[in-house]
Amino acid sequence: MFEIRIESSFSSAHRLRGYKGKCEALHGHNWKVEVFVQNPELDKIGMVADFHEVKKLLKSVLKKLDHAFLNDVAYFKKVNPTSENIAKYIFNELQAKSKKLDLAKVTVWESDTSYASYISEK
Ligand SMILES: [Zn+2]
Repeated sequence: MFEIRIESSFSSAHRLRGYKGKCEALHGHNWKVEVFVQNPELDKIGMVADFHEVKKLLKSVLKKLDHAFLNDVAYFKKVNPTSENIAKYIFNELQAKSKKLDLAKVTVWESDTSYASYISEK
């Protein structure tokens, strides 16, 4: 199995609903995002996927989240904007933009020591 990883980041604010603690209050993060693409086979030129293409897709997904108040983004009006749900959102948006992409995992770091991942069920 081959795997490639693309990294990016965005900055945004959120407020967790139903959480008793300081994350209930409005605060911000510089989120780091990692996208993992896997395939047991390489394409004709020896790649899992084109880094440049995946970066471009990720950039277009993160544009909606960067410098936003996540609770105001349509998806997060109902779904709590936790790192877990942000990872799932990014995973689904990427997959919707490119059905042929063999997405394996999206990891969202909310600090240098804490991350959450959404992993493909395939
Ligand atoms: Zn937070």
